Amino acid sequence: MSKINQFTMQDPRYQYDVSDTHKNDDQPDPGLDEILSPKSDHGEKTYEGSGRLKGRKALVTGGDSGIGRAVAIAFAREGADVVINYLPSEEKDAQDTLTYLSDCGISAHGIPGDISDESFCEELVSQTATKLGSIDILVNNAGKQQFVAELEDLTTEQFCKTYQTNVFAMFWITKAAVKHMPAGSSIINTTSIQCYQPSAGLLDYASTKGAITSFTKSLAKMLIEKGIRVNGVAPGPIWTPIQQSGGQPEEKLPKFGENVPLKRPGQPAELAPVYVYLASQESSYVTAEIMGVTGGQHLP
Ligand code: NAD
Ligand code: MG
Repeated sequence: MSKINQFTMQDPRYQYDVSDTHKNDDQPDPGLDEILSPKSDHGEKTYEGSGRLKGRKALVTGGDSGIGRAVAIAFAREGADVVINYLPSEEKDAQDTLTYLSDCGISAHGIPGDISDESFCEELVSQTATKLGSIDILVNNAGKQQFVAELEDLTTEQFCKTYQTNVFAMFWITKAAVKHMPAGSSIINTTSIQCYQPSAGLLDYASTKGAITSFTKSLAKMLIEKGIRVNGVAPGPIWTPIQQSGGQPEEKLPKFGENVPLKRPGQPAELAPVYVYLASQESSYVTAEIMGVTGGQHLP
């Protein structure tokens, strides 16, 4: 029997066994893939490349786990050299991801650090450019999500940190990176279904995703003058450490993803092909676009 890969035809409702996904568990922020239970699928065993990003140089923030790990693996299997950024406390997840990347025979590097700090963002970009020679693909994917049910319990400290991580860092990294990006480059920002259908309890997070979506569309119109395309991906409910580490209230985890037409959470591996498409020249006429991968929920 031939190996199952991302092209294998099957019923998407039953592509993953979700019986175990509805497990009620919890871990501290930032969540670790190392202790995520049950495990996510990042395409480790399934993603097959076909040279779509051969020779490209990519920076992926939050590349240690979840969607970022799936994107980094797919980029590497498509032939790109990849730098991932992550928090120092995520070193084990990052090393696991880097092992998958190095197995592809490309150049892979990890640069740990906190992107809520402007000077680190500048350092991250300059180190990436030194290691890779240029930056052809920038994926602003790192994000902070902490559920707070009541308005009076949402602190200024959390509100600011969520904005610094999700919005300000994207601005700082992008501004620094554009200097290293030749015409033909692509910027991809991870926004969310939360931009369009915000949940109570995610006030700070959902509003950062609104900002990311508008930032993406405005930036696209500025940067097309340099031949750089800018797009966003809006995931629906995806099974990653962010959800199990305060992104959802614990009691909601057992039903996570059940409310979408596919009636299950998505897996990071199901996001990666969209990032590959937006990064590659195949999407040459696509800019200022937000692509939903939501299990059937409408975007606007
Ligand atoms: P994840 O926890 O695996 O990834 C988030 C990453 O953000 C972490 O790995 C961490 O490295 C990084 N990060 C957070 N704060 C940081 C900081 N201060 N400095 C540096 N890095 C920092 O979870 P994920 O779900 O893969 O999240 C990736 C993106 O997808 C996020 O932007 C998230 O908002 C978005 N998203 C996720 C879902 C979902 O259901 N999982 C849905 C919509 C959007
Ligand atoms: Mg992580």
